[in-house]
Amino acid sequence: MKTMRASVLRGVRDIALEERPVPKPGPREVLVQVTSVGTCGSDTHYYEHGRIGSFVVDGPLVLGHEAGGVVVARGSAATRHALGQRVAVEPGVPCFTCPQCRGGRYNLCPDMRFFATPPIDGAFCEYVAVHEDFAYAVPDSISDDAAGLLEPLSVGVWACRRGRVGPGARVLITGAGPIGLVAAQTARAFGATEVVVTDVNPRRLALAAEVGATGTIDVRQTALASSGYVPDVLLECSGVPSAAAEAIRTVGRAGRVVLVGMGGDELALPLSHVQNFEIELTGTFRYANTWPTAIDLAASGAVDLDRLVTHRFGLADVEQALTASARDEAAVKAVVRPQE
Ligand SMILES: [Zn+2]
Ligand SMILES: [Zn+2]
Repeated sequence: MKTMRASVLRGVRDIALEERPVPKPGPREVLVQVTSVGTCGSDTHYYEHGRIGSFVVDGPLVLGHEAGGVVVARGSAATRHALGQRVAVEPGVPCFTCPQCRGGRYNLCPDMRFFATPPIDGAFCEYVAVHEDFAYAVPDSISDDAAGLLEPLSVGVWACRRGRVGPGARVLITGAGPIGLVAAQTARAFGATEVVVTDVNPRRLALAAEVGATGTIDVRQTALASSGYVPDVLLECSGVPSAAAEAIRTVGRAGRVVLVGMGGDELALPLSHVQNFEIELTGTFRYANTWPTAIDLAASGAVDLDRLVTHRFGLADVEQALTASARDEAAVKAVVRPQE
């Protein structure tokens, strides 16, 4: 095999299949034949706008960063995985040497090379080369789709860690999109006894309840403030500043707020509440050291990732995958199967 099919973003709303050389794995890399790639809001954003904040697509770019596959070749010094091993791909490789990397916060490495973030190509293609330490062996109890969706699960794991969700915690999750849904399951697995999820989409709230939320609030019908719920931890997954501000007002004394959702620019803080209750507020940027936990959560059944998959497309239909949630209210997660 010398060439492969790749789905390439060539401009705003312009994606085409191209023949590209199959990547050659470097010494410590493995070549992964991609079996499933989840589509993410960030992929759709690049497709529709050509940029996310300061990241601008200024040349052809392969999108997709939620990938699972099979190891089919190894670099000269790669020994971690056997050929044929099914793996999940962690899509960002840091520099390993800067202060953030050495401090264990490699997600904050300024020299991170991250899939589908200009100019680094992603995984909407047949093969990717990845550092062997960033390919994780997965057991057969984890499906091909679920292997890819360990990436959004990692976002949920990181959010729960940042919010110190533990046994007995009362958690509020704003937004029942894919991240809110994995965060809810992770919070339960981490021991939270109450996990209340809000959204404006009743189908998504029903799904949240199905996968383990102990309560749901349709904020079109019921104002959050009138629910009387006082969480210890807020995982803000909606990315809607007004929803975030309203939710922060409900957080109890010495509570934690984790801002996960993206989309807003500025957030008006209820300052006296944050001060009087000594609320800790943090952002999250991707994740660090989350795949082993994510694999255990999925393999044990504590988190069901397959339940989130509502649409599947071949490599020729990436545009359909990226626009599925705009066209179908029932869409949660669309995945691309590059071998189909
Ligand atoms: Zn993503
Ligand atoms: Zn670094």
